[in-house]
Amino acid sequence: MEYALVTGGSRGIGKAICIKLAAMGYNVIINYTANDEEAKKTQVAVIEKGVEGILMKFDVSKMDAVDSSLGKWMEENKDKTITVLINNAGIARDNIMVLMNPEDWHKVMDIAVDGFFYVSRHVVKDMLVKRKGRVVNVVSLSGLKGLPGQTNYSASKGAVIAATKALAQEVGKRGITVNAVAPGFIKTDMTANLPEAQIKAMIPMNRFGEAEEVASVVGFLVSKDASYVTGQVISVNGGLYS
Ligand code: NAP
Repeated sequence: MEYALVTGGSRGIGKAICIKLAAMGYNVIINYTANDEEAKKTQVAVIEKGVEGILMKFDVSKMDAVDSSLGKWMEENKDKTITVLINNAGIARDNIMVLMNPEDWHKVMDIAVDGFFYVSRHVVKDMLVKRKGRVVNVVSLSGLKGLPGQTNYSASKGAVIAATKALAQEVGKRGITVNAVAPGFIKTDMTANLPEAQIKAMIPMNRFGEAEEVASVVGFLVSKDASYVTGQVISVNGGLYS
């Protein structure tokens, strides 16, 4: 029984990825940290595709929480295999760096970087044993280009890009691929308060992207068609940066 784990699957890009993977036939484990109502809506949408949808509530940045929920589930469900891992959970706490408080620096870094590590170490260990797996990390244009007002976020995504490239080389021999997707401006709760009209004027495609447009690239990266693609960062940004 093959499962896909999507962190931050309750809303936005993660939700679209859950639905895409369900449509591809994966049973989906939907992780989230707070929003039970939205998580349940994602679960319903996943189940509607005819697969299993499991809610798994934990904060990816807390090692004990990851171990006692994900680690425990894996221990108790040895007949089930997580063959796809999407590290998507993330937050932004923007400010110019000299005014940024340490709490906002650490919160963003902890969720993106520590979260990647705490979750992936469980899942990739099992992938290595089974010699099968696909990992996709949702990073950002900020991690490639750097964006002012986002030194914390840019640093966190840059770190995950480097980790993607390193891990891809560690696990390639066992047939496991590790890639990243770097969205530009995508319409979700995260970007809801941005001045869209002003920003879209800078985007060659003259619009924000939809979460589904990110999910379709993730779908490709976990598919058989991407079997020889690893260690890559694929931008989904309407031509904003290349
Ligand atoms: P979003 O709509 O704000 O959704 C964030 C998701 O992450 C929610 O499901 C949330 O769960 C979950 N989450 C937050 N903190 C978590 C934690 N500590 N542990 C587990 N789950 C947590 O954001 P989004 O726009 O879809 O962003 C998804 C990913 O894409 C993020 O990594 C973000 O950095 C990246 N990204 C987004 C954009 C964009 O323009 N939107 C651009 C580039 C990259 P709850 O519902 O429980 O809060």
